[in-house]
Amino acid sequence: MNKDITIMIELQRFWDNILRGKTEIEKSNKSILYWKDQLKKNSDEILILETNVKNIKIRIKEKENELAEKDAQIKKLEKRKDVIKNEKEVIALEHEFSKVKSDKDTLEDELINLFDLIKQKEDELKILQAESIVSEKQSLSDIQGLEERIIRFQESINENQNKFDDKVDQLSPVVKTKFMKLTKSHNGIAVSKIDGEICGACNFQVPFNLIQDALKESKIVNCTNCGRFLYKE
Ligand SMILES: [Zn+2]
Repeated sequence: MNKDITIMIELQRFWDNILRGKTEIEKSNKSILYWKDQLKKNSDEILILETNVKNIKIRIKEKENELAEKDAQIKKLEKRKDVIKNEKEVIALEHEFSKVKSDKDTLEDELINLFDLIKQKEDELKILQAESIVSEKQSLSDIQGLEERIIRFQESINENQNKFDDKVDQLSPVVKTKFMKLTKSHNGIAVSKIDGEICGACNFQVPFNLIQDALKESKIVNCTNCGRFLYKE
């Protein structure tokens, strides 16, 4: 096998590790974004429910004040009963009484509904908060694991990049430029094994004479279809 090709095979191994590391880092970053998004969704949901509970409490307070006003009105009307002078006034007073009492009934019904509603919302909130504590713990631990994974892959990338940089200058200048260009191509394959008679990179059939040349120390062979350097074991 040609000396340059031997170097290329080694370089390709470093390069594959670099590309794999980059893909893994990208995947991990996407997962981190996903978990952070979940955390945000959880806390937003809790915030909405908390605001909801707060608003219901305000409404309850308002209704209770209105109810107290109605009670005060009833007391006033009862005092007026004592100083009534004629039939006409009695009818007017009774009319007012029934109006205030009916308002009071309505308010009491509304309050019962609001108390039911706040109980329901507070229960929902309790469940959501409990769930959120569990899922937050899980998400944070997942994020930490992913961040550690990123560091590990970055270390592997640096290590392989250093090995690559040290080795690449051993290539003959005449093939180095083409080799470097091919590493930047789609999927980063610059040198490929001939599998039987097939280029391992593009699955194209390699002509017989090229396969023979690939076995020689003096020859450097490129795939006639994809242009990648070829070797035969
Ligand atoms: Zn090919």
